[in-house]
Amino acid sequence: MSNSVYSFFHSVEQSFDKAAKFTKWDKGLLEQIKACNSVYSMRFPVKMDDGRIEVIEAYRVQHSQHKSPCKGGIRFSDEVNQDEVMALASLMTYKCAIVNVPFGGGKGGIKINPKKYSAYELEKITRRYTSELVKKNFIGPGIDVPAPDYGTGEREMAWIVDTYSSLKPGDIDAAGCVTGKPISQGGVRGRKEATGLGVFFGIREVCNMPEIMAKVGLTTGVENKTVVVQGLGNVGYHSAKFFREAGAKVVAIAEFEGAVYNKDGINEEELFAHRKATGSILNFPGCTNLAKNTDALELACDILIPAALENVINHENAGRVQAKIIGEAANGPLTPEADEILAAKGIVVVPDMYLNAGGVTVSYFEWLKNLSHVRYGRMEKRFTENMNTHIVSQIEEVSGKKISDAERKIILHGPEEVDLVHSGLEETMIAATREIMDIWKNNADIPDMRTAAYVNAINKVATSYNELGIFP
Ligand code: GLU
Repeated sequence: MSNSVYSFFHSVEQSFDKAAKFTKWDKGLLEQIKACNSVYSMRFPVKMDDGRIEVIEAYRVQHSQHKSPCKGGIRFSDEVNQDEVMALASLMTYKCAIVNVPFGGGKGGIKINPKKYSAYELEKITRRYTSELVKKNFIGPGIDVPAPDYGTGEREMAWIVDTYSSLKPGDIDAAGCVTGKPISQGGVRGRKEATGLGVFFGIREVCNMPEIMAKVGLTTGVENKTVVVQGLGNVGYHSAKFFREAGAKVVAIAEFEGAVYNKDGINEEELFAHRKATGSILNFPGCTNLAKNTDALELACDILIPAALENVINHENAGRVQAKIIGEAANGPLTPEADEILAAKGIVVVPDMYLNAGGVTVSYFEWLKNLSHVRYGRMEKRFTENMNTHIVSQIEEVSGKKISDAERKIILHGPEEVDLVHSGLEETMIAATREIMDIWKNNADIPDMRTAAYVNAINKVATSYNELGIFP
């Protein structure tokens, strides 16, 4: 989707500059924050199943070390290039700052289409990439911690942690070298759905703000809102799921092969099963096919969620977007030109670097779990349940009334790992939304929510640099 003229990194710089004007920081400090500190571009050979040797192009970028470790996913895609990885690493720095996750930004990419390789070839590529990172000291629980991104998931993270651990025998914190791992390899419950759930929590909070909803001409709340989702990968799928479960209507879903529309709402789980069985989302019972996947972006709806790749809404199609709210679940789905066009139309854009921060927030929880070597809830679950039982029985005795079995089950329940992760994520997303909205509200010249989010991120990173004493 990117082309030779478009520079994603330049887009991020443009958004940064637009926001920097609303801050008081020294020009040199702003330049330092914007720059990518370390860029590792590598090439390595991998022998394919048919005996051929292929040279693999890959990257890891550490945008900022104002906090350690650096953090950010690794993507497998044909479109990977240095400019893209630099942009994505920068967004990670700002994202972590906004949600108060104490990491610097990083990102990795391998320029392959994973669909064209066997599982064994992908394993060899991933393991070799990891050992290249180890050789250059570009990975480690206190250095740089990758995670899943576009085209990667739990399986790849398991290969990474296994390769790292075998090269660092005796490192008791080795599991913290990567997040998004399967539970059996040190993963945390709730990581898989984290980005989609964070997208939902963030937009729900925006939808609960009367002044924003009045601005876009909608009633408050997400119930009965019409939603269009672009992308049925991990993020799109889970975003659609949480909106549907909250009573919104997901009227269209788009993928590579096209889009499907149903004014009464689509069940993403059934659509996913249909795609698995037929190889395509098209011809899903009850839905109309849309010829081009990009047609979905232009449908009339309340909330549009691009959850695939960057640069999908640009100067060419932004004028035709009819949504009232756009939630950037993907990284960089809108270009700065699109931002201007949409702002002029009064559309509220909820920006990527905070809206999709649910993934890295729960990665932070996973990393803490790995360093503390204990599952969340293990210490307090039983204690809380015993205490709740005691309280309920006292209330029943004093009041002479019994509570229902259903109520008892809810009240007595002590927190499991997934409960704590979801509530930590909910709190994080609500707090981040309010912080950004306060900045936006308190400065009438700030044109949009993205700029307010950047102002917040710049202030936090600059404060941290200042506190390090780098710029006395
Ligand atoms: N790849 C995800 C992102 O872009 C998650 C990163 C992480 O968990 O470190 O935010």
